[in-house]
Amino acid sequence: MNIYDCIIVGAGPAGLSAAMHLAWHNRRVLVLDRRTGPLFFTLTKLENVPGFAGQTGVQIMKSLRTQAINMGAEVKRGNVISITGEFTDFTVKTQKDEEYKAKTILLATGIARYHPTIDGDYKRCLAFAAKCNMFYCPDCEAPEIADKDTLVIGTGNSAGAIGTAKHLWLHTNKIDLLLTSDSAISDENQVWLNDNNIKLHRAKITALEGKKGCLDAVVLDNGARLEHEAFFVSAPKLPRTDLAEKLGIRTTKSGHVEPKSQRGDTNIKGVWIAGDLRPMTQQVSVSLGTGNIAAVHIDQFLAKR
Ligand SMILES: Cc1cc2nc3c(=O)[nH]c(=O)nc-3n(C[C@H](O)[C@H](O)[C@H](O)COP(=O)(O)OP(=O)(O)OC[C@H]3O[C@@H](n4cnc5c(N)ncnc54)[C@H](O)[C@@H]3O)c2cc1C
Repeated sequence: MNIYDCIIVGAGPAGLSAAMHLAWHNRRVLVLDRRTGPLFFTLTKLENVPGFAGQTGVQIMKSLRTQAINMGAEVKRGNVISITGEFTDFTVKTQKDEEYKAKTILLATGIARYHPTIDGDYKRCLAFAAKCNMFYCPDCEAPEIADKDTLVIGTGNSAGAIGTAKHLWLHTNKIDLLLTSDSAISDENQVWLNDNNIKLHRAKITALEGKKGCLDAVVLDNGARLEHEAFFVSAPKLPRTDLAEKLGIRTTKSGHVEPKSQRGDTNIKGVWIAGDLRPMTQQVSVSLGTGNIAAVHIDQFLAKR
């Protein structure tokens, strides 16, 4: 069986950036991905990714993937369900019973975000999520809503949603807040809402109205119909740590995988992490950078041995 120098789990910006560096340095590298990363579905233009001005998530993913493959990386579709073994002899298995061997592993599995649900179903959001005027990432997208009448939709606790509203307040002072959970509001946050005349709705969503990816209104179970120019989802984010934890890698209190150093190495020899899985802001350029850092050190680590 072929033994790869490195198998990368996750073909988002972090995994593909790492694959490029390793392939460029003549390392045998395989990237496995089940294609659930956000950029595979993002049709809005990303304005803050250096070198990709105004390209959509889908276009950026295509460019990165093509560059990695042209460098010599193998990129395959596959849902990795287990990684066993140790440095120089890891075995990676996919849901379809494919098995691959590698000397080292890079986990670039990203984070899962909780969309708003309608009757418990999040899939109805996918017609609008990241397609036109429904945003998710304040660090990346807050300027998109400049001066727009915006509804912040909080799917988790009130502190997270109000934190998002405060961040967006720097860009627009036309904000309403919808909390779909019954999470209590702290006195301090209540004062902030009152001081800024932010209208608070507490209800479940029963329908999303709009067309061609653009959301017009959110309909609530109390009969209200909230029409806005922009919608910003504040959702809990869960790092995809299942594979890391099974390998024995430590996690932080925030649920992220804990790197041993800025290189992205971990307490398990031969296993690195990169991208959103690391405990820092979630941005494409950060993922590209941490993917590259991990790959540089994987290459050097292999060279020394
Ligand atoms: C709606 C939205 C808009 C955004 N807009 C911007 C923006 O404008 N600018 C910006 O800088 N950032 C933006 N971001 C953030 C950016 O998308 C992320 O920071 C970036 O994609 C993280 O890259 P990553 O490679 O770490 O992980 P991801 O892109 O999440 O990729 C991880 C990949 O790993 C795969 N995977 C996970 N587990 C397994 C497994 N067991 N087996 C196989 N594959 C697996 C997933 O399917 C996924 O494809 C946005 C995010 C969202 C949700």
